[in-house]
Amino acid sequence: MESVLKLKKLDERLALLVTLALKKIKQVSKIDGFEGPDEVVKKILEKLGLEVKIKKTGCRSDILFGTSEGMTKYKMANSLKGKERIYQLGLAFGYPNCCSKYFSEFIMGEKKEKPKKLLPLEHFICPGCKKSNELLKKYKKEDN
Ligand SMILES: [Zn+2]
Repeated sequence: MESVLKLKKLDERLALLVTLALKKIKQVSKIDGFEGPDEVVKKILEKLGLEVKIKKTGCRSDILFGTSEGMTKYKMANSLKGKERIYQLGLAFGYPNCCSKYFSEFIMGEKKEKPKKLLPLEHFICPGCKKSNELLKKYKKEDN
């Protein structure tokens, strides 16, 4: 898709995340500290049918985007509190339930072992996770 190619020139990770959102593999993503033409990015994403929210801090911006289904889940998750909020946010971001659960427990101090990050998407995987490998395969397939 031409618009995705445009994004790829600006930020390869952003382009991958957008592809994953469009294919509903990972419906919501956030890019923190983006330095670039965020208004151009916003226009492209909206043209692709995604919802976009930009928070500016100085010349950097945090870009949250997703399908409308994903963004609805995200908003609902954000209205919750504590461990349930973290867990539901993880699900909204498209992470496996086992990893979202582990991460929420880690944040609350119930688990001691810090989860490792699954690159390239920086998703925290639970120890011994089985679902994340499948997810990584899907990510890699779209990353070319
Ligand atoms: Zn897991």
